[in-house]
Amino acid sequence: MKSPFHVMLIPTLGCPSNCHYCWSSEEDSPVMSRDTMRDVAIWLKNFDDRQVTITFHGGEPLLAGADFYREAFPLLSEELSHLKPAFAIQTNLWRMTPELAQIFATYHVPIGSSIDGPKEVNDVQRGDGYFDKTMHGYRVARENGLNVRFICTFTSQSVEHREEIFNFFMENGLVLKLHPALPSLRGDEPEKWALAPEKYGDLLIFLLDKYLENLNTAEIMNINDLFKCVFTRVGTVCTFNDCMGNTFAVGPEGNIYPCYRFVGMPEWVMGNVSDHPTKADLAESRAWKVMHAFKDFVDENCKECPHIKYCRGGCPYNAITPTGGRVEAVDPHCPAYKMIFDELNERLNKELFGSGAMEMGMGGSRRRQQNKKAGIMDLMQKIVSE
Ligand code: SF4
Ligand code: SF4
Repeated sequence: MKSPFHVMLIPTLGCPSNCHYCWSSEEDSPVMSRDTMRDVAIWLKNFDDRQVTITFHGGEPLLAGADFYREAFPLLSEELSHLKPAFAIQTNLWRMTPELAQIFATYHVPIGSSIDGPKEVNDVQRGDGYFDKTMHGYRVARENGLNVRFICTFTSQSVEHREEIFNFFMENGLVLKLHPALPSLRGDEPEKWALAPEKYGDLLIFLLDKYLENLNTAEIMNINDLFKCVFTRVGTVCTFNDCMGNTFAVGPEGNIYPCYRFVGMPEWVMGNVSDHPTKADLAESRAWKVMHAFKDFVDENCKECPHIKYCRGGCPYNAITPTGGRVEAVDPHCPAYKMIFDELNERLNKELFGSGAMEMGMGGSRRRQQNKKAGIMDLMQKIVSE
């Protein structure tokens, strides 16, 4: 099976909000021009023959405005029709208007947004007023039939409120997808908000338990993805699936990067869409070579790890940007990945081959109906039936 091909378009690195742990916005960032968007379409036409997902990301992509999207969607849909493009957007929703929402609805664009829990937790780390502005945009999106999911960033501070945050998502019927806050590459105190790997591992196990306790009503995307990795022995999200060569990002000026996280960092530019580079052209860039050196490093350094097939060393951005591009280590979240992968494997084996096996099969859904805590196989049933 061909692995997915993903292109992230960053119309601007500008953003009206000022989240304390942000590492990716830039004041005075330009907005992608129509010519650059046309070059994106021409570049992608013959670049790869796989089905493509195109995600608009930022900065804050709604700053590009309605006219930008009114042109971008038909242009990309028509020029890339042979690649069956699927679209998505990641936005804080502050600038969502009925006009924009209708454009996104026309092209069936799922919306990813960001909220870190209840207002009092969220606004401490994302700034005063964030919660209300995002929730206003959320209502506009919903009124226009859009499907919105939120990413919740857990920081060193908000992780202390993990129960409250989980309850917030449950009470509001929201799907939970989480990110650990990364060390900032741009602030004076890079580690202040970052979530330590062991705390992240604890959090994942905590959320696994909460999820199993509330399996009929909760939806935690990360746990679904981690379980799919363990069960299928193949990474199912970019972090665990050798993203190099499968993911690219294009910044406002048309520069091509390995992923949105590198956008705006000149040393990670691989080429420019105006030159319509082939993969062989991009392979000449330093960024391409470093990304592939990371893959080789993982093959060697993780070879004894039982999780290597579906972990693949984690995210290369996390691993190589703190060292200025030197490939010296795997993703610093390795301890967290080990903790949750160990936990999932242990529970899976216990249910498949241990005493838990007696309770499985037909009994799985019955147990859930009886409000007993679900097990890993119940989670599998839920994932398969969705
Ligand atoms: S660099 Fe990290 S975030 Fe970016 S595509 Fe690769 S794994 Fe995903
Ligand atoms: S869990 Fe750690 S050691 Fe194992 S494959 Fe992932 S990064 Fe490598």
